[in-house]
Amino acid sequence: MFSKKTIEDIAVQGKSVLVRVDFNVPLKDGVITDENRIVGALPTIKYLIANGAKVILCSHLGKPKADNLAPFTLAPVAKRLSEILGQEVAFPADVEVVGPNAREAVKAMKNGDVILLENTRYRAEETKNGEAFSKDLASIADVFVNDAFGTAHRAHSSTVGVTAFVESSVCGYLIQKELKFLGEAVDKPVRPFCAILGGAKVSDKIKVIENLLTKVDSLIIGGGMAYTFLKAQGYTVGKSLVEEDKLDYALKMIESAKEKGVELLLPIDHIVASEFNKDAAPVVTEGIDIDADFMGLDIGPKTAALYAEVASKAKTIIWNGPMGVFEFENFAKGTVAVAKALADSDATTVIGGGDSAAAVNILGFGDKMTHISTGGGASLEFLEGLVLPGIEALNDK
Ligand code: AMP
Repeated sequence: MFSKKTIEDIAVQGKSVLVRVDFNVPLKDGVITDENRIVGALPTIKYLIANGAKVILCSHLGKPKADNLAPFTLAPVAKRLSEILGQEVAFPADVEVVGPNAREAVKAMKNGDVILLENTRYRAEETKNGEAFSKDLASIADVFVNDAFGTAHRAHSSTVGVTAFVESSVCGYLIQKELKFLGEAVDKPVRPFCAILGGAKVSDKIKVIENLLTKVDSLIIGGGMAYTFLKAQGYTVGKSLVEEDKLDYALKMIESAKEKGVELLLPIDHIVASEFNKDAAPVVTEGIDIDADFMGLDIGPKTAALYAEVASKAKTIIWNGPMGVFEFENFAKGTVAVAKALADSDATTVIGGGDSAAAVNILGFGDKMTHISTGGGASLEFLEGLVLPGIEALNDK
């Protein structure tokens, strides 16, 4: 199934290898507050060093504006990466990314050396997949390695454009791992296969729902998106989040699940409040209906128990999106219950990136999951059944 070449399929000894990594780390006053993404890139970087490549790393960081580049420099990442690797990571701070400083630094490299280029988004053409920047990047490299799963759904110069101008383009270990776990879960799951979808809006997940309904045995829906499904069936949802223009769609999906023999689960009780506020008093409803003055902010205890039970019977579970407003302690119980059910399960558990990945890590269940994706948008597009351009552009085996 996995048909793209990897770093192990090509010779790297003595070659200049441009590696697109995802060093888009959170920074506070120039200090990295979460270095998971740096750690995620280490297996590929270490393999290339050990195999005598000249390792030229590149990444974007945030969304720099032409008149305010400095806060988005990758300098702090180069420093931290040097400490983690225990070897110098040269940082040719070049506003052109591949300008005179970078070219000189590359020329001076020996096998096993590592440099990090400046933030690729210092060049405005990066996000437009501009050819001049793609050629600049390729001009300092023999081969290209993409290991940035988090941006694999974007066709940018450093993810797609550059591949047209190098000898070969392959994926690194992180992308390989993401595709293995996400791909195997979706395409050859051990059954029963259960998907759990939450988050704010139905409209964001329409294609994911449609694609997963053709694959899963059960589909669990929680979070803000559940209320559109409940209202469509005639329940009262009070002031809960509802997408009026998606009511027909929700009914169609309920029908489609029936036709396909997919068990579709919706909340049977809720934790509600009279306002959207972290200090709002949480009230547990008796059943599915919500009174006019209240809004659903979390699944209720009966629902949490039901979802945990269904999940515990599955052999493959994919989870994307929180069950409620988990950022507010009073409305995090449903998300915690689902995270705990997955942590206790011996099924293959795959967590889509973004909020559910953050929730699982914050709750300390990270190492209990089979795989936590590093890409929010990319993993969603993958679950939609789309081919990610940054992966499509790589050489086939
Ligand atoms: P998403 O990015 O679509 O996965 O949505 C995540 C967001 O959905 C989080 O910020 C949650 O606070 C929010 N959310 C989850 N449940 C609800 C709800 N019942 N009402 C409003 N927002 C919600």
